[in-house]
Amino acid sequence: AILIAAYDTEKLLLSTNYVDAITTRQLIKSASDCQIRFLFRINAIGALSIAFYTVTKFYESAKHFEHIAIDSATIDSLTGLRDRRNFLSHIEDKYGIDLSNSAAAIIDIDFFKQFNDKYGHKIGDEVLKYIARRLSSIEDEDTLCCRWGGEEFVVFSKGKGSEDDIRDNLIQILDDLLTNPPVINKQELDVSFTGGVTPYHEGDTIDTLINRADTYLYEGKKEGRRRIKILG
Ligand code: GH3
Ligand code: MG
Ligand code: MG
Repeated sequence: AILIAAYDTEKLLLSTNYVDAITTRQLIKSASDCQIRFLFRINAIGALSIAFYTVTKFYESAKHFEHIAIDSATIDSLTGLRDRRNFLSHIEDKYGIDLSNSAAAIIDIDFFKQFNDKYGHKIGDEVLKYIARRLSSIEDEDTLCCRWGGEEFVVFSKGKGSEDDIRDNLIQILDDLLTNPPVINKQELDVSFTGGVTPYHEGDTIDTLINRADTYLYEGKKEGRRRIKILG
């Protein structure tokens, strides 16, 4: 359109003898240079936009797949509970270093090696799932459980009186196991666990908190198992 306009302008200018033909051609040339520069800029903006869009989309989908990978890597496939890594990173993300008014417990199934030998590994797996289901039922906004590893589970809770809440919940689960044992394949299962519970102490990190709970757990093991030890 610019070239046609310039051509019409040339005809008009020549017919009116206002400028000579050379000046008119220069006008046409500068008009077409102007159009080329304009088209170049449009193309450059277009190319940059497409590149920006592509990079953004690529980044978004990379993030999406990274998220899926983290989710599947951090849920324990047997019990469906968070695994240790997921649990620790969730606590760190949610509370940072402020663990005041919190408490932690660690429980460990008693003589589970013997249990597996007696009932078989598959039934052992069912017991892990049973305990995990009971633990997940006490989870809420500020109470979190995980499969710490093997036949050990950790509970963390934040809020005033959290150590009493954790202790009461664990005692309830243990009592149910002992008084109303799970029945699998028509077999009544003789299974129990021992736990250690501790409240937050000034300066605790999640590691020191769980380590202290672990020392109570081992006291409970030494004292005969089937019990929840809590710091008095
Ligand atoms: P203690 O009362 O001192 O804790 O004795 P224990 O036998 O439970 O402890 P030990 O550490 O000797 O054995 C742990 C057992 O837990 C051995 C292992 O086969 C079993 N275990 C760990 N993970 C799993 C699992 O995913 N499924 C099953 N069925 N057993 C598991
Ligand atoms: Mg163990
Ligand atoms: Mg054990």
